[in-house]
Amino acid sequence: MTQINENYLKLTGGYLFSEIARLVKTFREENPSANLVRLDIGDVTEPLAPAVIQAMHAAVDEMAVRSSFRGYGPEQGHGFLREAIAKNDYQSRGADIDASEIFISDGSKCDSGNILDIFGADNVVAVLDPVYPVYVDTNVMAGHTGPADAAGRYGGLVYLPVTAENNFVPDLPRQRVDLIYLCYPNNPTGVVASKEMLQRWVDYAHQNGSTILYDAAYEAYITDPSIPHSIFEIDGARDVAIEFRSFSKTAGFTGVRCAFTVIPKGLKGKTQDGREASIHSLWNRRHNTKFNGVSYPVQRGAEAIYSPEGRQQVRATIEIYLTNARLVREALKKLGIQAYGGVNAPYVWLKIPGSLSSWDFFNKLLREANVVGTPGSGFGACGEGYFRLSAFNSRANVEEAGKRLAKII
Ligand SMILES: *Cc1c(COP(=O)(O)O)cnc(C)c1O
Repeated sequence: MTQINENYLKLTGGYLFSEIARLVKTFREENPSANLVRLDIGDVTEPLAPAVIQAMHAAVDEMAVRSSFRGYGPEQGHGFLREAIAKNDYQSRGADIDASEIFISDGSKCDSGNILDIFGADNVVAVLDPVYPVYVDTNVMAGHTGPADAAGRYGGLVYLPVTAENNFVPDLPRQRVDLIYLCYPNNPTGVVASKEMLQRWVDYAHQNGSTILYDAAYEAYITDPSIPHSIFEIDGARDVAIEFRSFSKTAGFTGVRCAFTVIPKGLKGKTQDGREASIHSLWNRRHNTKFNGVSYPVQRGAEAIYSPEGRQQVRATIEIYLTNARLVREALKKLGIQAYGGVNAPYVWLKIPGSLSSWDFFNKLLREANVVGTPGSGFGACGEGYFRLSAFNSRANVEEAGKRLAKII
């Protein structure tokens, strides 16, 4: 028989959300009349902005006519979208990023996993704990780790705890690391990174020759003007960082699929014999070979987010989620539950009262309140005793969840 990639066998359990889906399905089968409120998955619920729909319709009409029909586009994305991003997301915030440094893609989940294609297997990789599981699992699949221990931690990875004890600010690694995954506003904790904190990481990366993989998927939820939206707002970041951005949470594109990765031209890696190589060139080569671009109507839809109407409409939707997050926070506060995040992010991270484990609390909420959340331990050993509630739902459902929680806690 054909050999498999045995690294996949090291993966513990299912992908967190598949595991939750399985438990919810079983519960539904056993309790067909239960009306579940789902505050677990990080998926948007509001429809696309009218400006996006209009632009996508117009693009589809172009495709229907020989003279305006388009086949393959550039693998890196259309110039109109790359220019709009460079100008609106970076240059307008004082971040020196050129359109040619932006690679349009079908998702940040995909990019943050695929990026490992261009990095060596012997790099020491650091992740926060708790963490977005994709960073860890893709390193396991790529063979960068040993097996998992009893707590679910993979050998070879450097885990940086983020808990209430350190105010969710990770310490710099004590040892040298090559690749560091940072995600701000953070999934799952909903906390943000200050300029000073990011500067410490950029300085660390300079001193240690490391690369920061910065996931800013929730950048649009930042309301505090002192919080940076991009790692490239930090001095020196162009030499040490890659940034992932997505239209998924910004503009409800989870089912449409469009994102981008920013790789500054000067970012360098090295070969085993010590020669320098351009990371931008490697990613460009990878994109050319393994990717054929995002569909034209989708890129036109994404471009429309930067129009005055698009911007306003997208903002209004984000405000809905942020208000939901505030309602969740307030409901928890009334119950005396300590909660974090949810101010510049659509996630609220709560400390489970008493001594229940994250999965015990998941089951209690599911069975007694018919509310689904995400167990903190699913994001890492340091997430044990915590629980994530998402603001991605209708106002009515968020309010209903608050009432139900009050009855059981
Ligand atoms: C939702 C999310 C993304 C976006 O992924 P897409 O593939 O672009 O939909 C990226 N990173 C994190 C941490 C997320 O939660």
